[in-house]
Amino acid sequence: MVRGRITRLGVSDVRFPTSRGRHGSDAMHPDPDYSAAYVVIETDACDGIKGYGLTFTLGKGTEVVVCAVNALSIHVVNKDLEEIVGDFRGFYRQLTSDGQLRWIGPEKGAVHLATAAVLNAVWDLWAKQEGKPLWKLLVDMDPHQLLSCIDFRYITDALTEKEAYEILQNGLRGKKEREEHMLKHGYPAYTTSCAWLGYPDQQLKQLCMEALKDGWTRFKVKVGADLQDDIRRCRLIREMIGPDNALMLDANQRWEVKEAIEWVTKLAEFKPLWIEEPTSPDDILGHAAISKALAPLGIGVATGEQCHNRVIFKQLLQAKALSYLQIDSCRLGSVNENLSVLLMAKKFQIPVCPHAGGVGLCELVQHLIIFDYIAVSGSLENRMCEYVDHLHEHFKYPVIIKKASYVPPQDAGYSTEMKEDSVRKYQFPQGEIWQKLLSNP
Ligand SMILES: [Mg+2]
Repeated sequence: MVRGRITRLGVSDVRFPTSRGRHGSDAMHPDPDYSAAYVVIETDACDGIKGYGLTFTLGKGTEVVVCAVNALSIHVVNKDLEEIVGDFRGFYRQLTSDGQLRWIGPEKGAVHLATAAVLNAVWDLWAKQEGKPLWKLLVDMDPHQLLSCIDFRYITDALTEKEAYEILQNGLRGKKEREEHMLKHGYPAYTTSCAWLGYPDQQLKQLCMEALKDGWTRFKVKVGADLQDDIRRCRLIREMIGPDNALMLDANQRWEVKEAIEWVTKLAEFKPLWIEEPTSPDDILGHAAISKALAPLGIGVATGEQCHNRVIFKQLLQAKALSYLQIDSCRLGSVNENLSVLLMAKKFQIPVCPHAGGVGLCELVQHLIIFDYIAVSGSLENRMCEYVDHLHEHFKYPVIIKKASYVPPQDAGYSTEMKEDSVRKYQFPQGEIWQKLLSNP
């Protein structure tokens, strides 16, 4: 039973100085400080349960998202949780369609990141009150209740509510067995942690060797800054992992369309499974052209981590612009919007391989992809979830990886809660870590 009226919404700017180790570096983001706008919601229920939510940022600009969260809070504070989740579609639309705020979106940019942070906190609160991990809360909902969380506006030409209902209804067959399979084997993962662009070859080699020893079989390499470097790094990693393990490439939007095709063609000898974000995330037809050109080489196009919303995903699917769809738990409008994308991907028969390179993203998105397998896609073919080995120690319920797979979380909630001590120390700019760093740059 959900309970309580929301009495307070707080938000913090939390930044981790990852740029100092060049963790997370790629062709477009050479020095990210993995950060989050971190939301806490409190209710007047006597259980003392709070909801925690976040959205991922790269350092500068987190303060803008914090402002946007504060602007949205008028729609949240003083609402009964029951009223929110009883008409979650209506509440989602209220947040995303505020007649004034939508001008700085709509459903994109800082205001949509803020929407994600707020809604992620609401979902965490709901799952905690129900005493279930978020994936299980979703798995146990009936199709009608799941659909009542989704705003189908602007996507009915690709997926009607009736079709979505049929997908979920079909998903009921074998659901119990798939849940058992997840609990026993977990969800397959790949690692991005070995080959950030800023890592020297020696570090890349060392990390790759350790990952192989830990049982990893799927690896991603950052490319796109310098072709000769890419050839050398891809050769090095392919030699280390052997011909049978999977290799993926990620250019983080570096190229023009024609340039992407030429560049990736030169890396085809290393047999990559996909090229991720070859060009602007907004260029749907460009992605389609690249997909078409690389298909004969057996290389797919993957994208989604900077895809604004379900409408862009819809067009990418309609235009046959991608072979792997990468949802993001903190860029789309939380679970609500991700549900619509999972259902569209199912209809278009495109595997979902979530993005999780960032602080907290592994913690959150594991819930969505485990739900997807159990209740929507029903398949593990060509599917895997990204994993990066950074900053999990700051979370109260960190991800557990066993045999290169995500172990389904058992704690109630959305795994979004950070340790209080970490939030205090890394709060920008007043936290103790930043006080130190800013006085000795
Ligand atoms: Mg990427």
